[in-house]
Amino acid sequence: MKDNMREDVLRVLLSEEEIHAKVKEMGKKITEDYKNSNLMLVTVLKGAVVFLADIMREIDVPAEIDFMVVSSYGSGVKSSGVVKIVKDLDVPLEGKDILIVEDILDSGLTLSYIKELLASRGPRSIKVATLLDKPSRRKVDLQADYVGFSVPDEFVIGYGLDYDEKYRNLPYIGILKPEVYSV
Ligand code: 5GP
Ligand code: MG
Ligand code: MG
Repeated sequence: MKDNMREDVLRVLLSEEEIHAKVKEMGKKITEDYKNSNLMLVTVLKGAVVFLADIMREIDVPAEIDFMVVSSYGSGVKSSGVVKIVKDLDVPLEGKDILIVEDILDSGLTLSYIKELLASRGPRSIKVATLLDKPSRRKVDLQADYVGFSVPDEFVIGYGLDYDEKYRNLPYIGILKPEVYSV
């Protein structure tokens, strides 16, 4: 890394302004759709925390938030999408309108596992909001109900998304310079 994190960025894919405008628009739509609901925003740590923090303040209905931590069972099993729940949700889901808030929908394997798991707990409804979507990478038949941006199959960082646990604090979404990966 250079003196300044931003010097590691090859190019900006989505600026702070573009993200902010989109998050506002998504929040407005979600607000309309969830009038008279028992909305609970569920976020899988850590990538989506920045998106959650922004979008929750654009959703003008009383909502709960809760977090999950999951880990893959290991590289061999990863492609099956079977994950271990490291930290589960704290409350029962009966009667709740669950909106899973995701940073990026890639293969969809992790999300489809989590969605089925939560659906089995008797919520009134369950939907997915993702800031980014990489549809070309999908391995399961899963679509988000709210999508911010469709992005090409490139590894992106920032606005919560990491490379090697870093760059989550970059305020926009970008592509890293190749030399960052090779050193
Ligand atoms: P999947 O949809 O394949 O189960 O996994 C999605 C997860 O993979 C995301 O939550 C994110 O952690 C990671 N991921 C997928 N694509 C990217 C990317 O372009 N950049 C970063 N930083 N993480 C990604
Ligand atoms: Mg995620
Ligand atoms: Mg990551």
